Amino acid sequence: MNHKFDALVLGAGAAGLLCAIEAGKRGRRVAVLEHAERVGKKILISGGGRCNFSNILCQPENFISANEHFAKSALARYTPADFIALVEKHRIPYHEKTLGQLFCDRSAQDIIDLLESECRAAEVQIFLQCRIQEVHCTTEFVVHSESGEFRAPALVVATGGLSIPKMGATPFGYELAQQFGLKIVETKPALVPFVLSGKDRSRYCDLAGVSAEVVAKSNHHAFREKMLITHRGLSGPAILQISSYWRKGQPIRIDLAPDCEITRTIRESNVRNSAAAQKAFQGVLPKRFAERWLEHHAPTAWNNEALAKWEKQVHDWVIKPADTEGYEKAEVTAGGVDTAELSSKTMECLNVKGLFFIGEVVDVTGHLGGFNFQWAWASGAAAGRAL
Ligand SMILES: Cc1cc2nc3c(=O)[nH]c(=O)nc-3n(C[C@H](O)[C@H](O)[C@H](O)COP(=O)(O)OP(=O)(O)OC[C@H]3O[C@@H](n4cnc5c(N)ncnc54)[C@H](O)[C@@H]3O)c2cc1C
Repeated sequence: MNHKFDALVLGAGAAGLLCAIEAGKRGRRVAVLEHAERVGKKILISGGGRCNFSNILCQPENFISANEHFAKSALARYTPADFIALVEKHRIPYHEKTLGQLFCDRSAQDIIDLLESECRAAEVQIFLQCRIQEVHCTTEFVVHSESGEFRAPALVVATGGLSIPKMGATPFGYELAQQFGLKIVETKPALVPFVLSGKDRSRYCDLAGVSAEVVAKSNHHAFREKMLITHRGLSGPAILQISSYWRKGQPIRIDLAPDCEITRTIRESNVRNSAAAQKAFQGVLPKRFAERWLEHHAPTAWNNEALAKWEKQVHDWVIKPADTEGYEKAEVTAGGVDTAELSSKTMECLNVKGLFFIGEVVDVTGHLGGFNFQWAWASGAAAGRAL
């Protein structure tokens, strides 16, 4: 079978579907080719099943890229308010959790239903279980698949990153970019828990499940949120956020008592011993974690000088992760198609007319909190409006 369209979108995830909707609304005949048996599988598992679909506090600073300015244009032209308008049009109940994060009240399925319904209205054709064998470009793009040959003058690559291979993630987008001579910024797992080395693991990991509010720091970035001890290392929002900035071999620094002067009560008291130090952590760290941390980081003496040093250590616990949990557990892939290859207005390749890259496959990575979907919507809309 030979299918002819105005645009082909590869990947029926967040970015691909929004792009197809925008182009379809403008009268383009669009086909979305997806190798899975259904659309939006990652949307369904996102946000713990409730999809943190956007963030009302979205700013360009919430994104990581070799070119920090690249995302600005697309983000400004498709804002959280634009997606919220769609959510409200479909009467999907939602709420703000914390820090501007918007979640569905019911289920992430609501977002998939919204996208499918908008696709139908825009007469977008979706081809599922469509395995792509080859892509080449003559006077137009030709995609060979097990479901036949698809042709169009425009090709949008929205095949996502490498995280969660079990869900169907593939390196397809990067390989296609390389086929067309585009540069790739090295990829790495991001928003991912850390694995601790043997020594630290035996010190702390039997406390799995214990959490505390901390400030986690790496490479001049800091996040104040919860940290969670796991069976293999550290997780929780503060850790996931900082993992996106961390490079293998580096330590991370953790303030265990943000805004607290832990030694004040000890200095003011006549009793200066480990029981007093433990008590000083009351209301700041969970008791079990405070006890354990103190076992390995007791003050060297109880005079004011030693206590001042120890205070510093409490606010600057240096710990060196062995590694991250990798793509199996990473929420996103950092790096990707080099933004220097793309127009920031349309996501079209500067050197290959008609070829577009959108969503996670591009070297733009959001912080935790709905920013990755906002980038998927915004970059999808930017390309969809240019088709
Ligand atoms: C567990 C988890 C929870 C998350 N929660 C959130 C959240 O709450 N909020 C948030 O903002 N972000 C969240 N994210 C990140 C977010 O899901 C992604 O950033 C976003 O889905 C990227 O959209 P995309 O369209 O670029 O890629 P994807 O959503 O990954 O879509 C890519 C599509 O392309 C298809 N595909 C891949 N290869 C091929 C191929 N060769 N041929 C055809 N089709 C192909 C895939 O099957 C998939 O359908 C979460 C991620 C994970 C893993």
